[in-house]
Amino acid sequence: MTRFDGAEETYAFDHAGRFFTAWRENRLYRRALDGRVMEKHTDRRGRHPVKHRRFLDAGERSALVNDAAAAARVTLRALRDGTAELLWARPEPSDRSRADRMVAAAAGFDAEAAEADRQQFEAVYTPVSILPPDRYLALVVQITEGCHWNRCTFCSFYRDRPFRVKPVADLTAHLEAIMAFFGEGLTLRRGVFLGDANALLLPAADLGPRLDLVTRCLPEHTQDVSAFIDVFTGHHKGAADFEALRARGLRRIYMGVETGDDGLLAFLNKPQTAAEAAELVRSVKAAGLAVGVIAMAGIGGRAYWRRHVEATLDVLGRMALGTGDLVYVSAFTAPANGPYAERARAEGIAPLDHDAVGDQVEELLRGAAAVVGLGTRIAPYDIEEFLY
Ligand code: SF4
Repeated sequence: MTRFDGAEETYAFDHAGRFFTAWRENRLYRRALDGRVMEKHTDRRGRHPVKHRRFLDAGERSALVNDAAAAARVTLRALRDGTAELLWARPEPSDRSRADRMVAAAAGFDAEAAEADRQQFEAVYTPVSILPPDRYLALVVQITEGCHWNRCTFCSFYRDRPFRVKPVADLTAHLEAIMAFFGEGLTLRRGVFLGDANALLLPAADLGPRLDLVTRCLPEHTQDVSAFIDVFTGHHKGAADFEALRARGLRRIYMGVETGDDGLLAFLNKPQTAAEAAELVRSVKAAGLAVGVIAMAGIGGRAYWRRHVEATLDVLGRMALGTGDLVYVSAFTAPANGPYAERARAEGIAPLDHDAVGDQVEELLRGAAAVVGLGTRIAPYDIEEFLY
C-alpha cells in the first residue's frame, strides 16, 4: 500500500498498516520488523559507488513513523471525501471498504503502535540475521534456530544463540504466532524461507513432518519454499532426499560456497571442500531444484587473491549451473577484531580496502559470466542491505 504525494514524499505500508518504506529528500528509509529503520543513499563519485547507510536513532524513528501515520491520515480523509484517487497495482476487487480499512490501519501505526509491533515481533522470532537478496520479502519460518557449526571465522550471524531444532509443538506455536503477527501483512511476503542457517540438515524423518505442518498453515506461501544448506552436511544427502523435499514445495537451496580454494576454506575455518560443493550442487539440480550459490570477494586479502578467484571460477564452472540458478558475489569487509581478524593478523594478511574489494567483486562477476551456463543469473550480494 503506497501513498504518493506528488514527487516529494512516498510512504509505503503493508496491508496490515505497518509502515514499510519512505522516500523523502533523496533518501530511502526502510523499517525492519524488529523496529530498526535504515536510511540509505548512494555516492557515485568514486571508482565503485559507495552506499551510505545508517540506522535512525530512537527519536528519528519515532518522528518518521509518526510522519508516515500522519500522511496516512491525510490520505484517509481524502479517500473518504472523494478527493484522492484509489489505484490498485495488482488486480484487486474495487473494494473501497477494504482500502479504507488498510489506510485506517496505516493511520493508526504511530510510534507507540510501532513499538508494540516490535515487541510482538520479538516474541515470535529470534533475530532473522540474513536472507539471500532475492528472498528479502520471504516469510521466514524458523524450523531451526542458529547455526549448528557457528565457527567460520568470518561469520557472526548466529553467535548470539545456540543451535536448536524446534520440536513440532513449538513449531506449531511459532506458525500460529506468525499468522497472528502478520495478519493481512502476509500478502507482502513471497514464499517461505526456512530458518535459520542450515535447516535442511535435519534428517528426512524430522524435516518431512515439519514441512507438511508449514504447508498446512501457510498454503498460499508454500508453493515457493527455500532455505540455506551448508555444504559440509548437505553433501551427505542424495538426489532422492532432495526430490522428496521438492515434492513438499522446496524450490531453491542456497549455499555459501565462499571460495573454490580449499586452503582458503581452511583459513576461514569452514569445514568443506570445493569438490563437495560441486557435488552437492549437482545433486540438488539432479532433483529438479534450483540453486543459489554464494561466493565471497575480499576474503584472504592480497595473499589469496589470485588462487581464490581462479579456484572459485573453476568450481562455479563445474556446477552445471543454468536457467533458474543464481550466483551471488558477496563483498567482505574485514572486521577490526574477532576470529577472522586474529587469524589474518597471525598470518600477516592485511585487509583489502573498499576499492580493492570492489575490483575483486567485478572480477568474480565477470569471470562467473564466462563459466556458468546460459540463463544463470549473476549478481552482487550486499549483506549490509539486509533487513527483515
Ligand atoms: S556455516 Fe554458515 S552460518 Fe554457520 S558459521 Fe559458517 S558461514 Fe556462518
